Amino acid sequence: MRLAEGIRRHGFRKWYERELLQSHAHLALTFLCMIGIVAGFEAMTRGTAWAERLTDLALVLLCAAVGLWALRRYLFLLNHAEAAAHQADCPQCKTYGRLELLQSDASGNEVQVRCRHCGHVWQISA
Ligand SMILES: [Zn+2]
Repeated sequence: MRLAEGIRRHGFRKWYERELLQSHAHLALTFLCMIGIVAGFEAMTRGTAWAERLTDLALVLLCAAVGLWALRRYLFLLNHAEAAAHQADCPQCKTYGRLELLQSDASGNEVQVRCRHCGHVWQISA
């Protein structure tokens, strides 16, 4: 979810929490794909027919592709959330994450926010 949409819908802290949960779900998927790769190699050593071995190879390749995608997604979501979180401290009063969205650019990842504690306005880009 884009930063602007997330702040508008859930507030910054909930958006950050959801991004972290989503990224770690992708990490869990990466782990499951690693198990699938190992299981596929194990099955390949036991299969005698070429059709079985090709099916096992297809499983290994599928798990590798999904695992790489999930790992990339995990790293992207984690870095995206952390980049925004490092800018969520109010520069004036140092309050963390208590902000409201004022405006955003077209991509939704560059937002102007206001501190709910002191009213200071600043820019966050994720
Ligand atoms: Zn403030």
